[in-house]
Amino acid sequence: MFHGSFQPQRQGQTQFPCTHGQQSYPPNEGQQPSRVPDDNPDENPDPQPPSPSVPPLEEMDQFSGYENVDGTPLQPPPSYNEALRLPPPQSQAITTTVPVISEEQARSALLDHVSHNCCFGSKAAKKMKFTNIFRLSAFHYSLESYTEKRSAKWDYEPYHDQVIGGSFNGSVPSPWDIEARPPALFQSNTETMEVPHTASIKPCHDCIGLSRKRCYKCGGRGMTRCKWCNGNGYDCTFCHGYGKKRCSVCKGHGHTACNTCNARGKLKCFIRLTIEWNVHHDDYVDHVEHVVERTSLPDELIRTVSGETVFKQELPRVWPINHFPHENINEASKNLVQRHLNDFQATQKSLLNNFFQRQKIRVIPVASIYSNWNNNSFSYFVYGFEHKVHAPDYPQQCSCGCTLL
Ligand SMILES: [Zn+2]
Ligand SMILES: [Zn+2]
Ligand SMILES: [Zn+2]
Repeated sequence: MFHGSFQPQRQGQTQFPCTHGQQSYPPNEGQQPSRVPDDNPDENPDPQPPSPSVPPLEEMDQFSGYENVDGTPLQPPPSYNEALRLPPPQSQAITTTVPVISEEQARSALLDHVSHNCCFGSKAAKKMKFTNIFRLSAFHYSLESYTEKRSAKWDYEPYHDQVIGGSFNGSVPSPWDIEARPPALFQSNTETMEVPHTASIKPCHDCIGLSRKRCYKCGGRGMTRCKWCNGNGYDCTFCHGYGKKRCSVCKGHGHTACNTCNARGKLKCFIRLTIEWNVHHDDYVDHVEHVVERTSLPDELIRTVSGETVFKQELPRVWPINHFPHENINEASKNLVQRHLNDFQATQKSLLNNFFQRQKIRVIPVASIYSNWNNNSFSYFVYGFEHKVHAPDYPQQCSCGCTLL
């Protein structure tokens, strides 16, 4: 057995101090990355390379306006509320002149619909008699709020002698004074940047400035147990009887380069500002028949077809619509505008020199059609400028996937 006579630990230890002299910045002169165990327990059986770690917050500098640098949203500046105290705009009269759907259009729309559905026969659409057509309008109100959210967080990178814009050469701008514009309005986007004059050079917390760490595989000994002879060395040609092999991770040095500082020993620490632009969209669809009864047409269908935009507004803050002839739309506008205000004004800022909210009303033509074929009464809808058809009750259809002629 060679355990007693072979001292790989020494090999690892003596390497540490000789590189110190070359370093301009060893804050803990003479200190080792960490204590090398004296005894000889088994090396880490399942070694994982260490991942970079984050410097402790309490060692960071303090800057006014950045008391809260944990990545949570920053409070908006007082000027935000000023921008909201704008007078309401003049009400505009809204008129709706949506083209109505004729009988002929109602029939050809259904024929077209039938021809695209292999389970529908076309005879009923050709021969049906109209018993009633109700021309209605569906209303689609939508509100979008475009918001900007800012948050700040400490960040770091290995220090490679890059230029540092520290607090010694300028004051730190407050988070909302930093100029940033989204590439386009009403498009979500994120931008991050270093806050000027917040950078400083700190010793790496992970390796305490030494650029290297004790080897995670051999625990600093530089050697690992021979796998072939399980460490006993007996008749082993692989380890030549030593029972140990040079550590494959640290090549026998007992230490590896620090990943956190990229073996530089120093970190450039700075505040990183993250600016997030988001679009928040809400809408409301209304369609009624016989004045009060809501039609069975699914809302989703109304959202996807074209109609006439009868009202459109873009303002830093829109005001609820209160003069539309259809009262449900006024009510929906009031509710959604208030909800957006509650949800977004606490932590998000308007783009003061730009519009940040927009709302519109679209009117979509809808015909509710009642007809009869072969003593079968059925109804269907034709809707949108595209004359799309919703006809779940179409009488001439089969459920087996074949085509009826
Ligand atoms: Zn061996
Ligand atoms: Zn090692
Ligand atoms: Zn380090």
